[in-house]
Amino acid sequence: MTAQEVLQQYFGYQSFRKGQEELITQILSGRDVMGIMPTGAGKSICYQVPALMLEGLTIVISPLISLMQDQVDALRMNGIPAAFLNSTLSEEDYRRVLSQVYRGEVKLLYAAPERLETESFLRIAENIPISMVTVDEAHCVSQWGQDFRPSYLNIAEFLRLLPVRPRISAFTATATPEVCEDIVRLLGLHAPYTVATGFDRENLYFGVQQPRDKFRALMQIIAAHPKQSGIVYCISRRLVEQVCEELCDNGISATRYHAGLSDEERRSNQDAFLYDRIPVMVATNAFGMGIDKSDVSFVVHYNMPKNLESYYQEAGRAGRDGSPADCILLYSGQDVHTNRFLIENSSENEHLDEHTRAAIRQKDEERLKKMTFYATKQTCLRKYMLEYFGDTAKSFCGNCSCCRGNYEQRDMTLEAQKIISCIYRLQQRNLQFGAAAITDILRGSRAEKYEKFRFADTLSTFGIMSEVPERLCRDMIGHLLAEEWISQSDGAFPVLSLNRNSARLLKEKCTVTINIAKESPPAEKKRSSADPCVNPELYEILRSCRSEIAAKERVPAYIIFTDASLRDMCQKLPVNEMGFLAVSGVGRSKLQKYGDVFMAQIRAYIKNKANR
Ligand code: ADP
Ligand code: ZN
Repeated sequence: MTAQEVLQQYFGYQSFRKGQEELITQILSGRDVMGIMPTGAGKSICYQVPALMLEGLTIVISPLISLMQDQVDALRMNGIPAAFLNSTLSEEDYRRVLSQVYRGEVKLLYAAPERLETESFLRIAENIPISMVTVDEAHCVSQWGQDFRPSYLNIAEFLRLLPVRPRISAFTATATPEVCEDIVRLLGLHAPYTVATGFDRENLYFGVQQPRDKFRALMQIIAAHPKQSGIVYCISRRLVEQVCEELCDNGISATRYHAGLSDEERRSNQDAFLYDRIPVMVATNAFGMGIDKSDVSFVVHYNMPKNLESYYQEAGRAGRDGSPADCILLYSGQDVHTNRFLIENSSENEHLDEHTRAAIRQKDEERLKKMTFYATKQTCLRKYMLEYFGDTAKSFCGNCSCCRGNYEQRDMTLEAQKIISCIYRLQQRNLQFGAAAITDILRGSRAEKYEKFRFADTLSTFGIMSEVPERLCRDMIGHLLAEEWISQSDGAFPVLSLNRNSARLLKEKCTVTINIAKESPPAEKKRSSADPCVNPELYEILRSCRSEIAAKERVPAYIIFTDASLRDMCQKLPVNEMGFLAVSGVGRSKLQKYGDVFMAQIRAYIKNKANR
């Protein structure tokens, strides 16, 4: 069989996606490879297809025990002999899997890196021909990455112990040059053929809103995605509980997840979400690692996260099956303070010396600043994000809130001049303040803490922006910082100061414009990832059919068929085997297992419609 035939017969896909075929060809030729592709791009296919074509066993090293079960279930569903070895197996199951492996009945064996050192594992390796070792989430080997796993360092040693060195394939979604070098060096890859497809996920819509009422905005987003799964990320456990409760009070079926809940509640809430019993998950960033649910159709950030790496990773959990999905950030100025507080009070690096800690803190502040720019951007969000990750991008993507014009442009030159004069006048008196205090002063605050300065009587710029709402005033200062018309010091209490540009703004004819997010962006309301489905009635029928089967077989629904597959059925209306095989995601195995049931529903639907 050719790679193309394997793709069709086992996985039911008609063509390879970007990068897949190249990597597979190189693997088949015996070369080490490294694939750098964003979440949802389809890394798994890159090693699963050659694993089926090569003699012998492929070992897949994966850091997430919770994912292994899912991946193995999905492979078996496609008729591919796969198994996993990790600490969740009973001794009996463990032995059973081992003997299957010994009998050559397993093509893909998933294992946690800790397993590699065990005696039984090394014995397999000595007795069974191993065609390939695949390292998933390969960035875990690097201390530069966010998810360093010390046990990944043992992989190289394991490879050395093998009687014959197999080809190695490494995959990751995050790779700065430092991390890439580490992957090659620490895994001992031999001149790997490297494919980097770029970070873009075209099916994701990126939006930023600055709603006065975040909860109302959230309700609108949920309403635009009826019956679809979504994740709502909040910055604190307390907020998770509050938002989840409020959603439930408003008739939304929602559940919650954070590190403060008992193991049992976490597991059961997570399952409720995975198995589509509850569509909305409200969670802290503790939720998501190891969640491979492919039909998440929206990810809302109720607060701005601390950096773009986290944001892209979390938002990227939407739309893994390639269907259109929405990633929306609900921003408020307060989020910046909360994050700064978290950075300053982080206890994560307590074991490090003061100097290193300060360096890390500074890097964190820098990243937070970049994240804030994203949230207050006026030009294409996707472009900004892709460039942050080192990709090039067009300046207009057409699929983000900026490109879709959810902003009103406003000339703020006059306000900019007022802000700058205020900072200038204060500097003349050897006074420096942060953005919050400058806002207060410009708006003529009578707060007690300013009394002693007697600004009202002595400062000409006191209260000159009293008519500008506080939030807008803060945004304007933020915008001036982002565009470097003014500067801000580092440290715990950053203060504003003037720079070379500031004077230009007062003297020369420069204009400053700011884009202000409209309250409830029309584009998002109109558009939803639910809509591009023909025959929505049938879609519902097929969905419930799928739920029934999933419940019976105790697997998440998307393992039976993804939403994308169901939509394709509604489009193609297959009523015979050939037709059913043409549906995206239907291979031989799924045709055999589920073809009859689903085609019966489709036939009934067509007949019903004809009679009406
Ligand atoms: P990653 O590991 O890169 O995050 P996955 O391997 O989980 O991504 O793939 C994401 C989704 O895309 C899965 O549902 C997978 O079946 C699907 N997919 C992968 N390759 C193709 C393809 N060539 N055509 C259609 N769908 C694909
Ligand atoms: Zn854009």
